[in-house]
Amino acid sequence: MYETERLLLIEQIKKKGITNQNVLDAMSKVERHLFVPDIMQQHAYEDVALPIGYGQTISQPYTVAFMTQALDPKPGQKILEIGTGSGYQAAILFQLGTKVFTIERNDKLYNSALKIFDKLNLRIAARCSDGSIGWLEFAPYDGIIVTAGSPGVPQNLLKQLAAGGRMIIPVGDRTVQSLKIITKISDDEFDTKEAPYFAFVPLVGREGWKEK
Ligand code: SAM
Repeated sequence: MYETERLLLIEQIKKKGITNQNVLDAMSKVERHLFVPDIMQQHAYEDVALPIGYGQTISQPYTVAFMTQALDPKPGQKILEIGTGSGYQAAILFQLGTKVFTIERNDKLYNSALKIFDKLNLRIAARCSDGSIGWLEFAPYDGIIVTAGSPGVPQNLLKQLAAGGRMIIPVGDRTVQSLKIITKISDDEFDTKEAPYFAFVPLVGREGWKEK
């Protein structure tokens, strides 16, 4: 279903500057309409964020593509995602052949993501907890992708990143953030690049924003 719409979306994303063919292929295979509420399905292939309930969103496809391209994951790598939401970004990472670990703090979203992972046979490890402190049990990770906006870079996540690994995280105020692309060179040396003007819902937790 929606195959034509999905391919048109991929063309749009390409025009906006996404060049990584593996990312484009993964996004042309994963059916975004299965990750949004029924009443939103007809909008699933517009390049916009959509509401998924509880004040949360499934990220804009271009943003998913940009973050995944910046992460540049390789098959077999261990990737930690913070902010499972609909499960779409995790599904893209799984499609790219990585071992995906994902954390969601909202139990309703967590449970519906588990259902879709099960239905689509996506073997993704998920837990419901505060992801701002990471998932120590399976650390270190080759990549960490945070899909909610944080006031700073959580130290626990930096510690759980492998040497040579990369973390993508939106950092800023509650409405606008820059995407930080952080490569861990060694325990105390990091290379950081930044891409401005992204907008994510807040990362709420011990190393994120305090609950209002
Ligand atoms: N990656 C998601 C997708 O593909 O649909 C989009 C995520 S949405 C923009 C951000 C998610 O982060 C929300 O579902 C929110 O509940 C979750 N979140 C916020 N703070 C969190 C935290 N400390 N730990 C885990 N999840 C968190």
